[in-house]
This record gives sequence, structure tokens and C-alpha cells, in this order.
Amino acid sequence: MGSFTFGMCVIACLWWMHEQAKSKKEKVVLLWIGIIFFVGYSLFTVSGYMAARSKSRSNACQANLRQIDLAIEQYAMDNLKSNGDICRITDIVPTYIRKTPECQCGGTYQSSGCPAGKFIVGKTPTCSIGDSSKCKGYPHILYQ
Ligand SMILES: [Zn+2]
Repeated sequence: MGSFTFGMCVIACLWWMHEQAKSKKEKVVLLWIGIIFFVGYSLFTVSGYMAARSKSRSNACQANLRQIDLAIEQYAMDNLKSNGDICRITDIVPTYIRKTPECQCGGTYQSSGCPAGKFIVGKTPTCSIGDSSKCKGYPHILYQ
């Protein structure tokens, strides 16, 4: 929490200056600087936290896609399916994936052009969030 300590130091410093200030006008100005700094600092911290959260959601989604991709491959091998065959989420859960993977941004999993939960063997699984800005700009795409 280095930046938190820094924020507290600045506020303490401004408070000290506020206590030392001679005129009432000076006190008011310092108080306002303190308030503005505090609000700005809070927004900065919150936005950093939000960005970190959507990044971790994107990473989790990519891990899900990787898992689905491998499961489809495994399913195709075990059931002698070839490229272009249909694979449903119920074919791979719970045999190849213990529980249905869920996108933390509310996306659905499917092969492109298919309804949710339907995949095509040999095609890359996708999340409906994709690389759009629906989830703060972090991509929900399986990189090959
Ligand atoms: Zn997703």
C-alpha cells in the first residue's frame, strides 16, 4: 500500500499547512486543495482497482476458452468426431470439464456463428464478449 501511505502523507501535510495558515482565506484554500486531492486520489485508486479486476476477468475467461478448446479436442478423439462435427457443452461437461465454465463478465461460450453452448470441432471456441469494449476493453479471446 505504498500509494496509500503517500496519499495519507499529502493529506497530513495539507492539514498541517491548514493549521499553520494565518488568514481564514488561506485555510479555506488549503482545505479545498485537500478535498480536491482526496477526491482525485480516490478516483485514481478506484479506477486502478477496476482495471485490475477486468484484466483478471479477461484472464479467467481466456483460461476457460483454453479449457473448452482442449475438452472439445479430447471429446472429438474419444468419440471419433472430425472437424466440422457438432459438440455441445453437455458433451464435454462433466466428462472433460468438471463444471460448466462461466465468463465473469456474463459472456457465453460457443463457436462463432453458433448459439450459446454449441461448438464445432476444429473451430476456435469464442466468448460473446470477444475483443469488444463490453468488459472494459480487455479481450475475451483465445489466442492460438
Ligand atoms: Zn468472457
